[in-house]
Amino acid sequence: MTAQHIINSLEFARKSLEIRDTIAHSDLQRAKDLLKQETESLNWRLTGEIGLDKKARLHLIVTGNVAVPCQRCLEPMMMALDIKSEFILVNDESEIPPEEDDVEDHDYLIAEAEMDLLQLVEDEILLALPYAPKHEINDCAVKAEVNELKAPNPFAVLRDFKVVKS
Ligand SMILES: [Zn+2]
Repeated sequence: MTAQHIINSLEFARKSLEIRDTIAHSDLQRAKDLLKQETESLNWRLTGEIGLDKKARLHLIVTGNVAVPCQRCLEPMMMALDIKSEFILVNDESEIPPEEDDVEDHDYLIAEAEMDLLQLVEDEILLALPYAPKHEINDCAVKAEVNELKAPNPFAVLRDFKVVKS
């Protein structure tokens, strides 16, 4: 079982804390059914900091190999996750700038005294999964309808001949 990780997110950032752990396929609540058995344990690391701008931030890294079902043959397709997310902590929604003012497109999280980290880790995994993954055609169990392109019909060439009357 993966241990639960509940943190006070602001305190975590202020104290520049760090947590590293792994999460197994079987411990994913929502992503579990979207992934195949071959999914490996994923490593994640959360670090907190107060930036030079005095804003509290959380950095999340998730790495590891997941197996997603190929949409053509349904066989597993291995994919390396390499997630790096950064969140600015805010006290409430009013502190989140409107999208048009936020040119750098930051991600924000509302600070919580009891934040469930595994939810956050899983949210990021879900966001990173491809919508309709497919093997490269040569690696897929369902081969393309073999050679759509047939050899040219020799009679077609004749159509191009013009009858020239002399
Ligand atoms: Zn396939």
